[in-house]
Amino acid sequence: MCQGKISEYFDLSWVLSFQRTKKKYLCNDCQSNFTKLSDAPTCLGCGRKMNVEEICNDCIKWKKAYGQLLENVALYEYNGVMKEYFERFKFMGDFYFANVFNDELKAFVKKEYSKGKDWLYVPIPLSAQSYQTRMFNQVEGLFSGLEFAKLLAVKNEEKKQQSKLNRQERMKRSQPFILNKGSEEIIEGRKILLLDDIYTTGRTLYYAAEIIRSAGAKEIKSMTLAR
Ligand SMILES: [Zn+2]
Ligand SMILES: [Zn+2]
Repeated sequence: MCQGKISEYFDLSWVLSFQRTKKKYLCNDCQSNFTKLSDAPTCLGCGRKMNVEEICNDCIKWKKAYGQLLENVALYEYNGVMKEYFERFKFMGDFYFANVFNDELKAFVKKEYSKGKDWLYVPIPLSAQSYQTRMFNQVEGLFSGLEFAKLLAVKNEEKKQQSKLNRQERMKRSQPFILNKGSEEIIEGRKILLLDDIYTTGRTLYYAAEIIRSAGAKEIKSMTLAR
């Protein structure tokens, strides 16, 4: 992020563990600008930072609309430095930035939503148009190394990019997703973990959950890098 030099630090326990070095992508200064949400109370519905652990007003509305909450877990706060991170990663299209949080995200998913417990990992897809511009799906980049179940696609008429919509436009948007061919047979009775980069309003994730629930999923939760 700052172009500064990263000094590798080897302590004795690492030397004795005979492990390969873990590549560091952020210097300690930059790392400290990112705010971990696990250190604070968060909303039980969307994972945003709260003063006390409870359900935020937005999630109360989602609960009314859908009956169930996604219990989204986000690792980091969407603050200034996270915004800058996504600008470089998504909009300047530097795929190398996917590496920064990859180990952490992967380890978290494997621990909390383990495959042995029947979870399917479903990345939120990009529209064909966004894919053409960016040439990669940033969600699959962030979570790469997990085995994805690509159950969803974006409907063709979805012309305007989500990131260019304001909050009102986002909330008014109609169901943007369709199920890929063969998805229904896979979903029936399974536990689904939706993966996305940022939880903003929740609109995208709840649409994804809605269409997956209609195909008979047993349980649906979500996880994002930022909130
Ligand atoms: Zn730095
Ligand atoms: Zn919430």
